Amino acid sequence: MKPAPGPDLDAYDRFLVVCAHPDDESFGLGAIIAGLAGRGADVDLVCLTRGEHSTLGAGDDLGLRRAEELACAAKVLGIREVGIRDHPDGDLAAVAMEDLVADVELALGEPVGPTALLTFDTGGITGHPDHEAATRAAVAAGRHQDLPVFAWAIAESVARRLRDEFGVPFVGRPEGELIELRVDRDAQLAATDCHGSQLLDNPVPRRRVELQGGVEHLRVLHRPANAIETPRR
Ligand SMILES: [Zn+2]
Repeated sequence: MKPAPGPDLDAYDRFLVVCAHPDDESFGLGAIIAGLAGRGADVDLVCLTRGEHSTLGAGDDLGLRRAEELACAAKVLGIREVGIRDHPDGDLAAVAMEDLVADVELALGEPVGPTALLTFDTGGITGHPDHEAATRAAVAAGRHQDLPVFAWAIAESVARRLRDEFGVPFVGRPEGELIELRVDRDAQLAATDCHGSQLLDNPVPRRRVELQGGVEHLRVLHRPANAIETPRR
C-alpha cells in the first residue's frame, strides 16, 4: 500500500471542511480554504447546524438567512459543495457522536485520491462547545477512514491578546505545535461580508486577522498510521 502523505497540505487534492455553524468557514478557516481552492484543490464543506439560535441577528427565519449567507460565502471562497445538517445550534454536544460522524462520512463519500479533513482546533478556538463537538466528529471520522485531520489553530500569544481585549475564552497553542501557512486575506474578508447577520459589527474576527496579518496556523489532530513524515516549513 502506498504510504499516505504527511502534514503537507499541498499533497492533498480534496478537503472536507467540518464546521458547526455558518460563518465558521469564513471568520476561521476562510483564508486557508481560499488558498487551497485557489491552487486547484476540491474543497467541500459540511456544516452541522443552521446557526438558528445565534443571539446575533436573532429573528424569524435566522436559520434560512444563515444558509443563504453560507452559500454566498462558499462561492467567494471557492468551496465546491456545501452540505448543511439540521442538528440543534447551541446543543451540538448533546447529539450522539455516531450521528455526527455519520454526517461527516456521508459528506466525505468514497475518497478518490489524497483526501484530508479540515476543522477547528480542539478547544473550539473560542471555547464554544458546538465547535468542540464538530472537531470531535471530524477526528473520529478521520480515525475511522484513516485520513489526516488538519485543524485551524491560533497561537497562544494571539489567544492571550484576544482574551484580554474581549473577554472571549480563546484557546491558543504554543508555536512549537503549529504549522505556519502564508495566506491572502482578500477572499476571507469578502466571504465574511456575506455573513451580514453575524459578523458585520463583530470586532473580534477583524482584530484576530489584524493581529495575525498574512499568517494562519494549523495543527495535525490525526495523521494516518502510514503517513510519510515531511519536514515542517
Ligand atoms: Zn461557530
